[in-house]
Amino acid sequence: MEKKLVSVIIPVYNEGEKIFDNVSEINQYLDTKLYDFEIVLVDDGSKDNTWGEITRLSDNFDNVRGLRLSRNFGKEAALCAGIENVNPDACIIMDSDLQHPPEIIPEMLKLWAVDGFDVVEGVKIARGRERFINKICALSFYKVLHMMSGIDLDRASDFKLLDAKVIEALKTMGERNTFFRGMSAWTGFNRASIPFEVKERNSGRSKWSAFKLMKLAINAITSFSSMPLYIVTFLGALFLAGSFILGLQTLYMKFRNIAVSGFTTVILLLLIIGSTLMISLGIIGTYIAKIYEEVKGRPRYLVSEKTDKFQALDAGNYAREENLLK
Ligand code: UDP
Ligand code: MG
Repeated sequence: MEKKLVSVIIPVYNEGEKIFDNVSEINQYLDTKLYDFEIVLVDDGSKDNTWGEITRLSDNFDNVRGLRLSRNFGKEAALCAGIENVNPDACIIMDSDLQHPPEIIPEMLKLWAVDGFDVVEGVKIARGRERFINKICALSFYKVLHMMSGIDLDRASDFKLLDAKVIEALKTMGERNTFFRGMSAWTGFNRASIPFEVKERNSGRSKWSAFKLMKLAINAITSFSSMPLYIVTFLGALFLAGSFILGLQTLYMKFRNIAVSGFTTVILLLLIIGSTLMISLGIIGTYIAKIYEEVKGRPRYLVSEKTDKFQALDAGNYAREENLLK
């Protein structure tokens, strides 16, 4: 029987220092007796020597391929680039900093190949050491997302195995602004999970700035829920009810000629209504910006280079398609 092909997709951003060792280590956990493996490294526009290291890796290991994006498009886009450029029986997606332990890869493969699960997710037992403020922000983000979209991602990670079926499904999702974790949860399918402990980064710092994380959070919520728009309507209704009562009271006072100079009320009302209007407009604006981005239909990423082996593989695929057409 022919061995199944598993692609390990790893987005890499400014990890030149450690990427060689990390990928070599990951490679040791790939048992080639049972499956064929390829490791696909997507360089997300790194500014250090990452691409050099990736070419070195691909010269040293037969099964390593590299793909270089033309600039930093973000981890989400790098993952898309990886997925769209492979054609395996299953994909494993993981980080390059060994925070996703390669030790559990054999177990993931077993759950997929033997037990027939289509998605095997790595689930964090504990979030590794991180700043207190990050922890609070992450937790409240997941709470809000769960409340609004019903998708529960607390403890979910990007460490996953996806069957070819799921990859096909993901490829059909045309949105440009992707939130990978949410999208793969949205697809459904037969899922299993494996708990793992997040280790500390073995070098360097996390590549996520507070701003990048905030962008991801807003993108995730607006991608999976229209609830904020409904909340705006709901607030409007609430204020209408309030103004009805206040209106009645004002008229009553007026007709009984006991109306006093109610400045406080006026100022408070102005402030509350003014700020609510501003926030509402902001929320609506966020959605319009999203529509605008999707309508422009720009590609999610641009590839600037591929390692030699990747090109050979592409040529092979191309020849195969040509033959099929004949
Ligand atoms: N990453 C990327 N593009 C970015 C930021 C990060 O491809 O713009 C990659 C990074 O190289 C790593 C993974 O995404 O493989 C996770 O990043 P990091 O370890 O910095 O994040 P954390 O572990 O704090 O979530
Ligand atoms: Mg990390």
